[in-house]
Amino acid sequence: MDKYTGRCLELAKEAAERGEIPVGAVVVRLSDGRIIGEGSNECEEKRLPTFHAEMNAIIAACRFKGGWRLDDCVLYTSLEPCAMCAGAALNSHIKTVYFGARDTSGRGASALLRSAEYLREDECSRILKDFFRKRRMTVDNIRLIEAVSDDQLRTVAEIADEIWHEHFPKIIGAGQTDYMVDKFCTFEAEKENIEKEGYIYYKIKKGADDLGYTAIKPDGDRLFLSKLYLRQQYRGKGYSRQVLELHRKYAAEHGFSAIWLTVNRGNDIAIRAYEGLGFDRIGSGVADIGGGYVMDDYYFEIKV
Ligand SMILES: [Zn+2]
Repeated sequence: MDKYTGRCLELAKEAAERGEIPVGAVVVRLSDGRIIGEGSNECEEKRLPTFHAEMNAIIAACRFKGGWRLDDCVLYTSLEPCAMCAGAALNSHIKTVYFGARDTSGRGASALLRSAEYLREDECSRILKDFFRKRRMTVDNIRLIEAVSDDQLRTVAEIADEIWHEHFPKIIGAGQTDYMVDKFCTFEAEKENIEKEGYIYYKIKKGADDLGYTAIKPDGDRLFLSKLYLRQQYRGKGYSRQVLELHRKYAAEHGFSAIWLTVNRGNDIAIRAYEGLGFDRIGSGVADIGGGYVMDDYYFEIKV
């Protein structure tokens, strides 16, 4: 028993090293004691809420067996399973679930299980506590929160409206600023960009503060950085560099060779900022955006 919990802890530690909430799980076949499926948390990497350690272990075990019935198996996991994973354990007919740490988040679902036991609770709890303590220590760093819900996208539109009207009239004039905000920065425009063009919008957060917003879009083998705007009071503090680092990490993980973007030729502050961040100017172009307006831009690129 202990060696299986030990393996869960190893998997949990590996998850922590990848920046995932550290949870590990294994499915053990009772007839020979063999681990036939293992998993660790991959929700950050996959950007999905379903890639829990237990789900991954159960899926691996089913693949190993070539079927969904795990009625000759038990599941070990370092954290009390959630409703989804408890459901998967029930549905795969797993006999018993052994787990380490109690889930104190209120999302645990041990009550759903017919048979469950705690193992090495202190150790399994400690790895989670250590992880969250370290993460709180990095709270000074900014985070990108993908804007998915209508509420989040409306907030992004409000931030865009504020930043655009503060920053762009002096560069492109009030008329074109109004035109571009109406055309490109509304909630409806964001929805269309996401649904039709594959954009991903993020709020830039530090603690509880909304620093600004950013948006990216896959463009062939490059990642197009469509937007990176900070509110006035947050500029010049190195946050753009942190956002860019997060985008570079995303680009590297998703196999993009470079990040590219456009900047208005008159936007000296942004041009200097991107050059300072290591972008190279690779061209320029004028695009008709309707309403009698054009976008007169430089193109910048940085290798990933
Ligand atoms: Zn779960």
